[in-house]
Amino acid sequence: MRFVSLFLNNRLTIAPETLVNDSSLKAVPFFELPMVEQPPLNQTFRYDEKLQQILYGKQLLFDELSFTVDQIQLHYENGYVKYSIGISKTSNGYVCSRCGNEKSRLFAVFSCFRCKSDSCAYCRNCIMMGRVSECTPMISWCGPKVRWPLENNLLWNGELSSGQQLASQKFVEGIGSEGELLIWAVCGAGKTEVLFKGIEKALNLGLRVCIATPRTDVVLELAPRLKAVFPNSMVASYYGGSEERETKAQLVISTTHQMYRFKQAFNIMIVDEVDAFPYSYDQTLQHSVSLAVTPKHFLLYLSATPSKTMKKAAMNERLPCVKIPKRFHGFPLPVPKMVWGGEWKKRLERGKLPATFLKWLKAQAESGRRAMIFVSSVSVLEKLIELIRKEVDVPVDSVHSEDPLRKEKVIQFRNEDIQLLLTTTILERGVTVPFLDVAVFGADHDVFTESALVQIAGRSGRSKDDHDGKVLLFHYGKSLSMIQAINHIKNMNKEAGL
Ligand SMILES: [Zn+2]
Ligand SMILES: [Zn+2]
Repeated sequence: MRFVSLFLNNRLTIAPETLVNDSSLKAVPFFELPMVEQPPLNQTFRYDEKLQQILYGKQLLFDELSFTVDQIQLHYENGYVKYSIGISKTSNGYVCSRCGNEKSRLFAVFSCFRCKSDSCAYCRNCIMMGRVSECTPMISWCGPKVRWPLENNLLWNGELSSGQQLASQKFVEGIGSEGELLIWAVCGAGKTEVLFKGIEKALNLGLRVCIATPRTDVVLELAPRLKAVFPNSMVASYYGGSEERETKAQLVISTTHQMYRFKQAFNIMIVDEVDAFPYSYDQTLQHSVSLAVTPKHFLLYLSATPSKTMKKAAMNERLPCVKIPKRFHGFPLPVPKMVWGGEWKKRLERGKLPATFLKWLKAQAESGRRAMIFVSSVSVLEKLIELIRKEVDVPVDSVHSEDPLRKEKVIQFRNEDIQLLLTTTILERGVTVPFLDVAVFGADHDVFTESALVQIAGRSGRSKDDHDGKVLLFHYGKSLSMIQAINHIKNMNKEAGL
């Protein structure tokens, strides 16, 4: 966009060119404007509460707001809204203030209709949230704070296991102070319940809380549970396509990507599955989490399979850590069994299934129990499902990350309309279905890392009425990851005294 600078009430100020009818003023792209002092807060101005609610603790683009440029400019002139630069030049390139990206290869220039420049630079790294370019102002709120209701009653009278109890207590102790904590909880430990007491305390202190998780599936599963236990609180979920993004919320459940939209919003940040892709691989996502928290904050990490760096920090006591080695129902984690599958890849190409796998498949179909079958890639998925359908006559389907029906299929699987579900590692976390067995087809493949296999094995045996679901790893030679995953699970069971 282009702005002009002009004098208003004896102060130098700025305004979008479209709002000013004075052709003698020179319009320039936003980043070329002179430094202008923020207008002081006009106490008598009647600000729009809806705008306050949407912008508070955020940093958005004009395009993301359902307000006119006029309305926003009025709030700016009265000191309630701030404009800041989206992309700044640095000594060796650019930096994006939304996602923190500084890599030259992730910037590009385009011929920009808005600032009439033919080389307006923009950030490619966060483009899925709408384009931030050199001429795009980021809009934030600098008026009065939102006041949160202080009566948030936790409506839950379930019981915590002793491990959960300890972790919950540590979290509660941290609320109200600055710090960090890692809760290392096995799959099925019941980590959500561990959060309840701490969240209640935070909400009643007027603090804002965020649970950030890499996966939309997890947001969709967590949000209704939290709304149910905090019926008087303002809770909203944020993910691509969410309808609650303009809802006033003290407790936000969000995908890590949506963090890009927040700025100094949260006193308590809970990062779920901190080891999971893409959060652990994407520095800029970590950056956005660090921007989304207030300067003084408490960071809680949740993981069943913390990264090496994190484990090391916990061991050296640089990162306070509580472990929950036992599942909520008190039974051990199912230990995966390795099964020789021969040259599974070659067999697939020849249109054949490994004999051991075929035997298991038939027995599984017969038993009527559900199973998830994990594979290394979409191409394996497509070949395998065709062969499986020839062999058994039960409802079989498949999902992968690009599948538009992914959500629906997971629901069908939960409802037992699908008995055998083939999947890539996309469902290694988050999906909790009772009475389930798990098979990994081609477990020696590189995509099945130690943590992926621990997460996959963690899908089974989640219910106390079916706590020893089977986990089979069909392979063509044991991989180090397979051995490490099995040891990991055995060690956790040992620590739990099982
Ligand atoms: Zn960016
Ligand atoms: Zn431009």
